[in-house]
Amino acid sequence: MNETRPQETLANLLSETRQFEPPADLAAAANVKADAYDEAKADRLAFWAKQAGRLDWDTPWDRVLDWDNPPFAKWFVGGKLNVAHNCLDRHVEAGNGDRVAIHWEGEPGDTRTITYAQMLTQVKKAANALTELGVRAGDRVAIYMPMIPETAMAMLACARIGATHSVVFGGFSVDALSGRINDAQAKVVITADGGYRRGKPNALKPTVDDSVPLCPSVEKVIVVRRTGQDIAWGDKDVWWHDVVDAADKEHEAQPFDAEHPLYILYTSGTTAKPKGILHTSGGYLTQVAYTHQAVFDLKPESDVFWCGADIGWVTGHSYIVYGPLANGATQLMYEGTPDTPHKGRYWELIDKYKVTILYTAPTAIRTFMRWGDDIPAKFDLSSLRILGSVGEPINPEAWMWYREHIGHNKTPVVDTWWQTETGAIMVSPLPGVTSTTPGSAQHGLPGIDADVVDDQGNSVPNGGGGYLVLREPWPSMLRTVWGDDQRYIDTYWSRFAGMYFAGDGAKRDDDGNIWLLGRVDDVMLVSGHNISTTEVESALVSHPAVAEAAVVGATDPVTGQAIVAFPILRGGAEGDENLLAELREHVGKTLGAIAKPRQIMVVPELPKTRSGKIMRRLLRDVAENRSLGDVTTLQDSAVMQLISEGMANTKNQDD
Ligand code: ATP
Ligand code: MG
Repeated sequence: MNETRPQETLANLLSETRQFEPPADLAAAANVKADAYDEAKADRLAFWAKQAGRLDWDTPWDRVLDWDNPPFAKWFVGGKLNVAHNCLDRHVEAGNGDRVAIHWEGEPGDTRTITYAQMLTQVKKAANALTELGVRAGDRVAIYMPMIPETAMAMLACARIGATHSVVFGGFSVDALSGRINDAQAKVVITADGGYRRGKPNALKPTVDDSVPLCPSVEKVIVVRRTGQDIAWGDKDVWWHDVVDAADKEHEAQPFDAEHPLYILYTSGTTAKPKGILHTSGGYLTQVAYTHQAVFDLKPESDVFWCGADIGWVTGHSYIVYGPLANGATQLMYEGTPDTPHKGRYWELIDKYKVTILYTAPTAIRTFMRWGDDIPAKFDLSSLRILGSVGEPINPEAWMWYREHIGHNKTPVVDTWWQTETGAIMVSPLPGVTSTTPGSAQHGLPGIDADVVDDQGNSVPNGGGGYLVLREPWPSMLRTVWGDDQRYIDTYWSRFAGMYFAGDGAKRDDDGNIWLLGRVDDVMLVSGHNISTTEVESALVSHPAVAEAAVVGATDPVTGQAIVAFPILRGGAEGDENLLAELREHVGKTLGAIAKPRQIMVVPELPKTRSGKIMRRLLRDVAENRSLGDVTTLQDSAVMQLISEGMANTKNQDD
């Protein structure tokens, strides 16, 4: 344990000594080796130019980066390419048309196998159908879909004709959908009757029906039939199978400028009003293709890749659609939830499709831990060779559980830090190079200049904590907030001169590894020490009785703020007084007395965003007995009711 010093920007309390070397065979055959760091350091722009060479360009660029007017970047200036051609046509032209692009499994167990050649034909037809409906390059198309192959096809059809897509997560309400359609002034909406979730059809079309009258820009609604449920039908509605099946199967992709807008995607809204993040074409595709090949060591001829995210989040955009398809990968796409029809569904799918690379989120991993080790143990997971994590800090114990129970102690775990704004993975181990430390995202990737700085913007030494920043522009960076350049400047480029500030706290350990410590908005100020939520949560999760935990700082007359913890227990554990006392002691022993929670409230669930991230601001309201703030992005609002009621019945355990 390190002593905290009051002048520290963010305390470094947790220390971790476990380390895992890359497996020798993986290291020997790795796509990216240690020399990539040196190469990128010697000439960063030449390094990125080389990565852009992975793509087919119709016109080569004249300049790698235009950073003359920061923070507005242009990458691969003057270059022209077609994103859909790079994801489909070129693989078919190279003779790989029969390779499976998507093994799709519906939640009820229905399946589809789609080759690159079949995918290309569908995307060409969809591109023709969109054109016939009046969509032109530069127009916006909203996509509100379940996890079915047509969602990827719709995105690629937009990319093919230069229309900018805005995918809205299929769980969102009329307010969220209509707000996003209006913000982007979308001309067409692509949706489905519904999709399967938790064992039943989950309707989507009614939300679109209620949104369209609020959205004057919408001219047509294209509807995929997935569930066959009854739906209302309006003047603007057309069936996907009518317009796409009837469309010409020939379509020649036109090149677009490297900076042509590819998509708008709204951040998940964990801390603030969602922002419409704009991504463009050449730089974005370069970095998603590169990171997918480097971080997952993808071998397109033999790997079966599975990203468990929803296409409605950036992880789905970059690592279901654009990265894997640009690399000619074979992947699994699954429609439903991990507990339907049983809690072993993920492991059953890995066994069935011989998945080699799994990419999922800490929230899912902690849920699997809670369900018990015996569930994955029933399935053959020996095909797995790399495990990835994204979305939140991964607690060291969850990382260890993932490695042991899913990876059988042989697969590297890559914790990948990035954001909707960064477009692609930024900080992560390389599986054939890095000795991994549980809980750490380790280093900026080759070509990425990530740093941890203090309040003044100076790099912190090893052992120090502060803010995660990016010191240099990167190809897949956001170009602006849609329609709001000033918000782009204010939100990301104003805190520290000349640096992108990500909003996340971080530290460097004694070996120089980067650890993500959660949102700076969530940092707790206890007796003059800035303590991250992540470290206290990780200390709680390292107790065998705890599966998951959230902590918040609540106003305290003595210490300024005091730590209030909300743990979820593992199956079988009893949340009695003895356990609570033990948990407080455990945190004290792991991190020091300063980090002991004042109060602990065992909860059945935690409030999470639709993307699975813990919403600490709501718990702060509960801990401070305020009426609940905005709960619109909350997954399940009943959870908050339960927590509030429980909290009202507990008293201060620090007395
Ligand atoms: P909003 O910005 O609207 O609050 P959001 O930040 O949740 O939404 P995303 O872009 O989906 O929207 O999430 C990015 C954030 O997720 C990062 O800033 C970080 O806080 C967290 N995150 C992602 N990956 C990791 C990781 N590997 N380790 C730690 N935190 C991570
Ligand atoms: Mg964010």
